Amino acid sequence: MQPAAYGIPFPPTDCCFFLDFDGTLVDFAATPDTIEVPGELVSLLAALAAAHDGALAIVTGRALPDIDRHLAPLRLPTAALHGTVRRNLAGQLYGGPHAVDFATRTSMVRERIDVWLAAHPGLLLEDKGLALAVHLRALPYEVRLLHELQAALHGELTPFLPEGVELLNGNLVVEVRPRGADKRSAVEAFLAEAPFRKRLPVYLGDDLADINAMAAVESRGGLAIAIGHRLQKHYHLPSPTAARAWLANCMKRGGAP
Ligand SMILES: [Mg+2]
Repeated sequence: MQPAAYGIPFPPTDCCFFLDFDGTLVDFAATPDTIEVPGELVSLLAALAAAHDGALAIVTGRALPDIDRHLAPLRLPTAALHGTVRRNLAGQLYGGPHAVDFATRTSMVRERIDVWLAAHPGLLLEDKGLALAVHLRALPYEVRLLHELQAALHGELTPFLPEGVELLNGNLVVEVRPRGADKRSAVEAFLAEAPFRKRLPVYLGDDLADINAMAAVESRGGLAIAIGHRLQKHYHLPSPTAARAWLANCMKRGGAP
């Protein structure tokens, strides 16, 4: 690998990319729908994918139609809902149907969430179909109190979880989701097939939900880069802006033959 900015080596040409979205490629906003997708992001991802035989996947907690809408007209290989649903480069879909009765089975959890929504104006429920996300970011409290509330919400929902459903603590969000699939299993599934197979994996992520996938990438000798300040990793970029700049530099330096 070549040396590069921020002390992070540029990966070789025959690498592949796994990119988280929120907090990694785009900055957080008060609600998931009010993010601003920088104009150059779509062209950057298209160019990066093209330079690596399409070996670039988005690995996100968002639902598939949601991420497609934000990256239109691109339809990239994507692991959505934290790996619950996966679409490969050929457009084949994996996962999803096993959780088709998710809404019914989580109705008691949903009732507890509704109580919280009524008690805390600013709390936002995002229904992703195969997952529920309760966002605390827009509550008018300081961060310490938000984290205390997040822990309290997690504790209150836990007894109501049906079998096969789990809670995931993200960055000021508590997700209710099917157990079993995660970002790590999605990354490993991508790495078992073309065009990712035999390429050195590079993972950019910002959140606890990225930790296992990052470990999988590192165990294969790949690069795992933490964005922002939530994760303690050897390689670190301070912001989504820096992450986009580093990826653009990969095109010029590491991506060149
Ligand atoms: Mg993220």
